[in-house]
Amino acid sequence: MDPRGTKRGAEKTEVAEPRNKLPRPAPSLPTDPALYSGPFPFYRRPSELGCFSLDAQRQYHGDARALRYYSPPPTNGPGPNFDLRDGYPDRYQPRDEEVQERLDHLLCWLLEHRGRLEGGPGWLAEAIVTWRGHLTKLLTTPYERQEGWQLAASRFQGTLYLSEVETPKARAQRLARPPLLQELMYMGYKFEQYMCADKPGSSPDPSGEVNTNVAFCSVLRSRLGSHPLLFSGEVDCTDPQTPSTQPPTCYVELKTSKEMHSPGQWRSFYRHKLLKWWAQSFLPGVPNVVAGFRNPEGFVSSLKTFPTMKMFDYVRNDRDGWNPSVCMNFCAAFLSFAQSTVVQDDPRLVHLFSWEPGGPVTVSVHRDAPYAFLPIWYVEAMTQDFPSPPKTPSPK
Ligand code: GDP
Repeated sequence: MDPRGTKRGAEKTEVAEPRNKLPRPAPSLPTDPALYSGPFPFYRRPSELGCFSLDAQRQYHGDARALRYYSPPPTNGPGPNFDLRDGYPDRYQPRDEEVQERLDHLLCWLLEHRGRLEGGPGWLAEAIVTWRGHLTKLLTTPYERQEGWQLAASRFQGTLYLSEVETPKARAQRLARPPLLQELMYMGYKFEQYMCADKPGSSPDPSGEVNTNVAFCSVLRSRLGSHPLLFSGEVDCTDPQTPSTQPPTCYVELKTSKEMHSPGQWRSFYRHKLLKWWAQSFLPGVPNVVAGFRNPEGFVSSLKTFPTMKMFDYVRNDRDGWNPSVCMNFCAAFLSFAQSTVVQDDPRLVHLFSWEPGGPVTVSVHRDAPYAFLPIWYVEAMTQDFPSPPKTPSPK
């Protein structure tokens, strides 16, 4: 039964090394959906703490200048006929994806508002700070079969910061992105231009350029289980007609998708795309996603509103569907895992959490470049007015 004498070998090891000195297995976190079913965890209704804008040159402004206004075509008219390929590539100014912005713009906002954050003194020291898009990836992880991710984590003044790292595979795919996929990305932004006006009450102007440097970002506070969250996400527009003009319930997310013709196509859409749309909009409390369905020629001729809170209904009775509880329980488990793994308070220390489909989340430890992501200007400004830096590692 034990031809190679591994048992004896193990005994020998135990004798040689006291139990508590045995090398511990590297900690990891499984991602199988079956492990995360169960009741939906507590998720605090997200509230907006503030916002910021990025201009055509990708410069930060601490205001809502880039916010646009939902302005769909009149429902009594002929219906939409949006040419999503119009202006490509001559009226397209794509953001430079080689620039790794990490959390910088969010940290800029945080530095400016740190003295007047709600939640009381010490709230930030207990919180997790990240982008909404990073949390979206965590929510969909138990169901993701294609793309892995890496999240860098650093603890500083108690707060846990999470910043995504582009995986080598994702980078290779981006650099080799097929021209048709590049045009498809443009079409998504072009749809926004057809649906949004620059001022409330005015009409969209699709004659101009599509510049993806421009962004309006909402900064939100929430809590998942015991984890206070401060995160920011890009918001497409606000609906000036909505009964509640209070953010985030006035916000609208705009999406394009292929026109569907068979029940099988709709089923696949509910299983895969709707999961991503739900995760992205549920997190910040955006109540509606408006989809434009495009034909093979790139024209949108129909629109459909998907209320975020009704999306799960489409897969509720589908054995191969997704479950919001699994998404949120996994995210909560990951945040607990990260909080207990990143013990040392040090902005130059990085725990890199890595995941590939089919495996567990694993961890590696790094110092300084290339993984450290909290900028010196942030660390210095926060250190200057921090009353008494903790001498012992934070207990969290
Ligand atoms: P999303 O939910 O994935 O769209 O991402 P967020 O709304 O959390 O956006 C966070 C920040 O990243 C914003 O400043 C966005 O303009 C920016 N951003 C959005 N998508 C991308 C992307 O694909 N790559 C990079 N590098 N930044 C992005």
